[in-house]
Amino acid sequence: MDLSTDVVIAGAGPAGCAAAALLAERGHQVLLVERGAVPHPRLCTHAIMPAGLDVLARMGVLDQAEAAGAQRWWGVRLHLDGVTVAAPLPAGWTRHAYGLSLRRHLLDPLLLATACRCPAVSLRLGWSAEALLGRDGVITGVRLHGPGGAVQRVRARLVVAAGGRHSRLVRAARPAERVLPNRHTALIAYLDGVPDAGPAALEGFYDRGRSASLLPADGGLHVAGVMAPSPYWRREEWPARLLAALRAYPELAPRLRAARIVTAPVTVRGLRNVLRRPVRPGFAAIGDAAAQTDPAFGQGISWALRSGARLADAADAALRQGAGPVCLPARQVWEPVFAPLFAGISLLSLLSPGSTAERLVVASVAQSPRTSAAALRLLLGLGALPRPAPARQIAAAWAGGALARPVAWGGADAP
Ligand SMILES: Cc1cc2nc3c(=O)[nH]c(=O)nc-3n(C[C@H](O)[C@H](O)[C@H](O)COP(=O)(O)OP(=O)(O)OC[C@H]3O[C@@H](n4cnc5c(N)ncnc54)[C@H](O)[C@@H]3O)c2cc1C
Repeated sequence: MDLSTDVVIAGAGPAGCAAAALLAERGHQVLLVERGAVPHPRLCTHAIMPAGLDVLARMGVLDQAEAAGAQRWWGVRLHLDGVTVAAPLPAGWTRHAYGLSLRRHLLDPLLLATACRCPAVSLRLGWSAEALLGRDGVITGVRLHGPGGAVQRVRARLVVAAGGRHSRLVRAARPAERVLPNRHTALIAYLDGVPDAGPAALEGFYDRGRSASLLPADGGLHVAGVMAPSPYWRREEWPARLLAALRAYPELAPRLRAARIVTAPVTVRGLRNVLRRPVRPGFAAIGDAAAQTDPAFGQGISWALRSGARLADAADAALRQGAGPVCLPARQVWEPVFAPLFAGISLLSLLSPGSTAERLVVASVAQSPRTSAAALRLLLGLGALPRPAPARQIAAAWAGGALARPVAWGGADAP
């Protein structure tokens, strides 16, 4: 081996940076390896749920994100076949009663700079973690490939795969996994000139089988998604089609009079829901490398940050004991809430857009204030659950939130 360290983290996205910063803060030596440039172009609609903000605050990066122009939003507003239902984020479940949107070319460098500020973090930019090293199922290190054909072998007590959806190390580790289909295809672009209707919120639109979303972004922009038969639209038609599809919703038409599309639309399809066993001796996977969910539900960044923080907590204790490869129990890396979250999102993304099943779900959510309040509170509760808590406490918090009387929009500091 050429080099030795406590932990190698492959991937400097939200999961890798959170884990690196929080492990280094506790004195562990971390080698953070990133194969690309930071920032690099990345398809993401960047809504961060309140529970993710708790991790940003713990890393000391939340104020900088807000100073960089991150847009706060206060809840969800759904316009379902002419019925508008809205819910604030459940206050008191986390320290933040709002979510945040900051485009990734702004967020990712902040996270990386925060991780690299810790003296115990060494960064290898432009290097790729290509292979796991070890024997008899125990991982003892990793092989890195760098610029100009350089190769380096690094020994570590823990190798962390944080390389996102296509993590090479996870493929090499061959963990047990569940893969569920996602039938959603969306066309996405940024818009300017869209006034908010009330406090900034994540908005969803559903009209007889057609659906769309609108999320606030930094810089006065919004990012819009249209659930689209995009393969049937010619690429040169996408901007006009997307704007026309959005203007077809009666609630949006007046707000989009002066709207302009400012980025070339892109399609998103085939992003399956995947849940993997995240550990083996000397190895752990976090963020998208461990679990991927339909991006339409905006959970990925929060999950990545939370899983990075949770891994750091679990590995800290293990690294202090003994000297060999670190073995973490899966339950210490998983949050108890993630299994129901994954199951719920996977079920919803199984529904074909416009299908009878989807229309039935929408109708049942829209037609009674009680069901819509309960559905929204459950959905938002998933994104706002507190840091690790016993399953019973989480179930009680959900039930309490879902059954509580509707509350006024926004927390004390809402606009
Ligand atoms: C269209 C779309 C919209 C989305 N919208 C949202 C949203 O609104 N809200 C939300 O929360 N989430 C959203 N997501 C999901 C979100 O982008 C991901 O869940 C999140 O980025 C995962 O973070 P991560 O750190 O696990 O991985 P990533 O952010 O993918 O970072 C992985 C990093 O690892 C590096 N890497 C990969 N392999 C290696 C290697 N072998 N060696 C070294 N480095 C490596 C990569 O270059 C990359 O920088 C969206 C995703 C898509 C596709």
